[in-house]
Amino acid sequence: MGTDAPTTVLIPVPCAPMRAPCPTSGKLGKRKGTCTRQVRTVAFKFVAYLRITYGEYTAQCKCCTTFRITPEGVLPKAHYDNKVRDLVLDRFLKDGMNIDRVLESLRCEFLLELSTEFVYGVLRGRAEQLDMAGHRRKVLLLRAGAPEIILPDAVLQEVRGRGAADPVFQEILRAVWLKIVPTLPTPAQVRVWNLGAGESSVLALSMTDRDCEAVLDDRDARRCAQTLKIGVRGTLGLVVLAKQIGSIPSARPVVEQLRRSGLYLIDDVTNQTLALVGE
Ligand SMILES: [Zn+2]
Repeated sequence: MGTDAPTTVLIPVPCAPMRAPCPTSGKLGKRKGTCTRQVRTVAFKFVAYLRITYGEYTAQCKCCTTFRITPEGVLPKAHYDNKVRDLVLDRFLKDGMNIDRVLESLRCEFLLELSTEFVYGVLRGRAEQLDMAGHRRKVLLLRAGAPEIILPDAVLQEVRGRGAADPVFQEILRAVWLKIVPTLPTPAQVRVWNLGAGESSVLALSMTDRDCEAVLDDRDARRCAQTLKIGVRGTLGLVVLAKQIGSIPSARPVVEQLRRSGLYLIDDVTNQTLALVGE
């Protein structure tokens, strides 16, 4: 009799350059050692872990004496990477499952044993992000003085899926400065990235006009844009632009506000970006 014990897969993730920026100050520190930790990720019918080798650094800043770094897509101290979180959101928001079904489907397909509490945490974070950051981003775009802001219909449909009373949905309908255009078929180069319908539609549209810039925060969507040589800007980049053209007096308070409303920004990236505008 064979056992049904699932196969465990370890995926090595090196994240220990000789020098790395302090997550708080952004100042480079020198590596003094490396450690490893395992973070659960997603693989169909496998128990998959990222085996992260991360650096510990001697800091040269005032805020700390030592610090550690974490790879993109893995929050500090998290037991699950962002792919697990995204999967929970997909099942819940796109596939319309209830929490029990989300838990059950992830257990069956990805051998993930998640708690109800974990799912609630992921949903709570997302709800705040959707309600506030989406709204603020649009206001920022306008303030940043982009000549024309185009929204593919697929993004509108995604927002509409949250109900006609949704504040972002209503805001879009009211926004005369926003031009809604039909969704184009997703080109094969975008389809292979398996992104959300909204992100795919933004990229498909951007491919037709080389002068435009895609506004995307999703990490994989941004990578896809870079591969396709599409100019891309995230919410953080918009704030910096708004400061540069004088629409807002300073960027940091706006960034902090976005953070409080649930937008996830990596500390050292934020600090490096704000340093560009002298903050
Ligand atoms: Zn520091």
